[in-house]
Amino acid sequence: MTTTAPASGLGDVEAAARLLREGPNELPRPARRSVLRRVAAQLRDPLVLVLLVVAAVTTTIGDHADTAVVLLVVLGNTTVGVIQEIRADRSVEALDRLGAARARVRRDGRVRTVPAREVVPGDVLVVGAGDVLAADGTVVWGESLQLDEAAITGESLPVEAHRPGTAVLSGSVVTRGRGEVVVGATGPSSAMGRIAEGLVRTRTRRTPLQRLLAVLGRRLALVTAALCAVVFVLGLLRGEDPLLMLVAAMSLAVAAVPESLPVVVTLGLALGARRMAARNAVARSLPAVETLGAVTLLATDKTGTLTEGRLRVAEVWTERDGDLDALVGATVLCNDAPAEPAGDAASPGTDPLETALVDWARDRGVDVAGVRRRHPRRGALPFDAVRRRMTTWHDDGEGGVLVVGKGAPETVLPPPDESTRADRARAWAEDAAGRGLRVLVVATGHRRSDPTAAEAEQELDPVGVVALQDLPRAAARGALDGCRRAGIRPVVLTGDHPATAATVAEQVGLAGPGEPVRVAAVDEDADRRDHLLEVDVVARCRPERKLELVAGWQARGEVVAMTGDGVNDGPALRRADIGVAMGRRGTEVARQAADLVLADDDLNTVVAAVEEGRRIHSNVRRFLAYALAGGLAEVLVMLAGPAIGVALPLLPAQILWINLLTHGLPGVAFGTEPSEPGAMAAPPRRPGSSVLAGGLWLAVLVVGTTVAALTVAALLLVGGPDPRSAAFLTLGLGQLGAAIGLRSRRAPRAVRSPGPDWLLIAVAGAVLAQLAAVTVGPLMSLLRTTTPTPAGLATATAGAVVAGFVARWFARPRVAEKGSR
Ligand code: ADP
Ligand code: MG
Repeated sequence: MTTTAPASGLGDVEAAARLLREGPNELPRPARRSVLRRVAAQLRDPLVLVLLVVAAVTTTIGDHADTAVVLLVVLGNTTVGVIQEIRADRSVEALDRLGAARARVRRDGRVRTVPAREVVPGDVLVVGAGDVLAADGTVVWGESLQLDEAAITGESLPVEAHRPGTAVLSGSVVTRGRGEVVVGATGPSSAMGRIAEGLVRTRTRRTPLQRLLAVLGRRLALVTAALCAVVFVLGLLRGEDPLLMLVAAMSLAVAAVPESLPVVVTLGLALGARRMAARNAVARSLPAVETLGAVTLLATDKTGTLTEGRLRVAEVWTERDGDLDALVGATVLCNDAPAEPAGDAASPGTDPLETALVDWARDRGVDVAGVRRRHPRRGALPFDAVRRRMTTWHDDGEGGVLVVGKGAPETVLPPPDESTRADRARAWAEDAAGRGLRVLVVATGHRRSDPTAAEAEQELDPVGVVALQDLPRAAARGALDGCRRAGIRPVVLTGDHPATAATVAEQVGLAGPGEPVRVAAVDEDADRRDHLLEVDVVARCRPERKLELVAGWQARGEVVAMTGDGVNDGPALRRADIGVAMGRRGTEVARQAADLVLADDDLNTVVAAVEEGRRIHSNVRRFLAYALAGGLAEVLVMLAGPAIGVALPLLPAQILWINLLTHGLPGVAFGTEPSEPGAMAAPPRRPGSSVLAGGLWLAVLVVGTTVAALTVAALLLVGGPDPRSAAFLTLGLGQLGAAIGLRSRRAPRAVRSPGPDWLLIAVAGAVLAQLAAVTVGPLMSLLRTTTPTPAGLATATAGAVVAGFVARWFARPRVAEKGSR
């Protein structure tokens, strides 16, 4: 029903009209949760249920002031919870958009890259190796076009799809060749859409940290419940009113459990992901943000990552001068780069190596288009990283067939023999590789008729060797330095020649100053697998080997980040803890398999992302230290009260008020703390270590006991008719003081990151609210406080300062990433 002119593709206007008519090419999104349902979910929380029971009890005993406070707490908690959840969801959606799939289409005669969701029926998709088909369609033309449809049909063998009219399915991966496809069905009516319909789209997976914390939360709840029961029984034994004691115990339970923990983590991860995106690192899931902080090994590819990826022919070798023209001619025939320089040289789909060969030929005055016209291509075996060679065959102009091949020396040249031309070519190639050049042997052969795929690469004679220069990236050295300083081992995996790879690795300082680079070639060390896991450079490394290496490192306990951009890198990228794809240069398969996409293709961005990951982990620990210490202090005070003759040191409403102040805003603000200056000069945290590792639990114990002791001191020292108010003020300000003490160490002024100091603002607000609770009439009657005497005020202030210093000197060093190793 849809028509198109494949030659020029759809017009822009037509494409826009179809987009409106047919709808976007994407899977239906799960409906957003309504605010009402979010509120309902918050209210189903066990702690809120406890609070509602408390409210019911206080209403029946006619204690309307307490009921009001309880309801205020429920309202406050629910509001903060819902807002945080919405913010987190928004961040995740924004990430989804940044990481979205892309497609190349021909529109108005020009090929351009568009978001896959804008592809419409009738569009012409221009595809090459490494692309993922964005929609269902029919092949218009194809050259060696081969698809992997495993994701759609489960069929694991690649299918040939070069014949015009072949039906192809969205979600298939182009494993080799190139071609054009007219789009038939998009979105929900495409193969991908039909599959997705049957699946219930799971909500965002919980991250390992979130799971760990959920377990911790349950344990804490149990311990707290037990302690509260003790408080209750102690009160009863002293003859207190059972209902009052019940309310007090339940309020304490609510206050002591850090109920905002899961939200703090989610929000921290979501905000972190946003900050990473601003630094050009697009995380494609929240778990990735968290895992980044724990990375211990970075496996990177070479071409385009450590090097500029812009190649230039530097040297050539032929046996006789007369062979040079044959060499040039051969390199432009066995070549898919356009004859004319494209505006955007780095356009995906053209190999920079082939562009370099065309440029070289043109510089030598060769009419590239003319040569190709005189020798039309009859067939091809495209380059792939497994064979490391490419072969094409052409009309030779005399009724026969000219076969042209180019590729890595050991794949094109016959095995070493006597002093033949092949051996001299090999020797020259080795030498050039040793100087960091990328080498390519070119060979030709004549046939009477078209060869079969099996014959095409037999019996070709070497014409010459081309050596290309790919300059090391200036930025790579810094990135590798950054990795090593942060305790992350950098390793290079490349399909290139060992000598080329070693030279480049040395140029970018892979092994560190003064250290020799250890190189191994996969082919030579096939039976020494373990050795491969230890070297700095693995050369002649095929994609499937990358997967084995990643698995090998993981078995040794490493947390592996791996960069990749090749067609076949998908499995290894998925297997790695953090798969990293290049946003500009990388293939679509790599992008879709990756956890992290670098918008600027810069390795430094990985280091920045690791720093973000570490920052988030530290901040979760910071919050834990703060919230658990506060809860502990509250419980200890309630337990100590009876011992010093104060049956109920704090009234239920007062406990809840403190909980609201301390956990509400300051808690969340911890997520915005900057990373500490030394964070990237320390080794990564031990994989699988507890969130409380590194003595954090000790910090909780010390800070919590300190605040409790100061509060009890206030009860004892201040005396008078209402010692409670002084204790109430001390407990609140003490926790807030600890919050200030736990702030991250700031970098010197010059490099301080901009943006408001949210933690300071939140703490200041909470301090004011706490002071208001003992000075503003209506609040005072609600919370049944009195304005403390100067002695009481002094004790509370001293409490805040002491708690702050203890937190700073004892707890903060244990929070920093260093503490968790
Ligand atoms: P890298 O890890 O550097 O990306 P590749 O797998 O791209 O390695 O290349 C491996 C080898 O294959 C190169 O050293 C080169 O000899 C050969 N090669 C690369 N690109 C082509 C091509 N387009 N045609 C023929 N041979 C190629
Ligand atoms: Mg490559």
